[in-house]
Amino acid sequence: MKPKVAFFDFAGCEGCQLAVLNCEDVLLDILGLVDIVEFREAISETAPRFDVAFIEGSIHREEDVERLRGIRARSTYLVALGACACIGNVQARSNFIAPAENFKRVYGEVDRNQAQTDPEFWPLWAHTRVRAVKEIVPVDFELRGCPMVPAEFVHLVKALVSGSIPHFPANAVCVECKANENECAFDRGETCMGQITYGGCGAICVTNGYRCDGCRGVLPHANLAAHRQLLREKGLSDALIQNRYRLFCSAEPLGQEIRR
Ligand code: SF4
Ligand code: SF4
Ligand code: SF4
Repeated sequence: MKPKVAFFDFAGCEGCQLAVLNCEDVLLDILGLVDIVEFREAISETAPRFDVAFIEGSIHREEDVERLRGIRARSTYLVALGACACIGNVQARSNFIAPAENFKRVYGEVDRNQAQTDPEFWPLWAHTRVRAVKEIVPVDFELRGCPMVPAEFVHLVKALVSGSIPHFPANAVCVECKANENECAFDRGETCMGQITYGGCGAICVTNGYRCDGCRGVLPHANLAAHRQLLREKGLSDALIQNRYRLFCSAEPLGQEIRR
């Protein structure tokens, strides 16, 4: 019996599911190892139970909470797929804006009474607070990043199929950045989130000439006080530092320290 695998999307851009479909070089091998029984982007079938459920997207509405709990109850393993599911991602910045102001920023000066009866506006009426998946149900594994890293997806599937536990080292992005012999963003007079961010992406943004903005989330053992102080010394105001910290991690359940 091949393990049954399902994919579900909540609030996200579906880029992580696309990244799965783009694993062209290994996709056929993976399909030989598992039965994909639900995957809205690829098939129309549904299934009552699964061995592994991949959850893409953050959780915004009470109906999403119920749906997520239902999926958890039907799954042996549950995997958070990508930054939206793991840490809330950029949409969680709306947690810091009052709902009425949030509505206005998205739709402008729309009559709120009219909007209440118009389906076009329902997503924001139903919006409560952006949450990461682990804030609502237990998560067995996290595939971090925006989008998730295909090599980590393949590693996880192979491990689960072979009965072993996938391993994602909790190294900072700096480790891979140094291995790639990149010039440090700080040496270029810029700032970077790499010191406090989960590696696993190969420091791809720095390697391609940018900096790390922290899409894989904050390491649990990161020295945030030292990192903040470093950013201050490089001339960033406290408000700008707060923005940088909140960019991807506003729903990160690790605690207020990251969001303040
Ligand atoms: S993590 Fe990024 S790529 Fe994946 S669904 Fe969210 S926004 Fe899209
Ligand atoms: S550029 Fe960023 S990720 Fe690379 S070594 Fe410097 S701080 Fe670390
Ligand atoms: S370098 Fe940073 S921002 Fe870029 S993918 Fe890696 S963790 Fe995300």
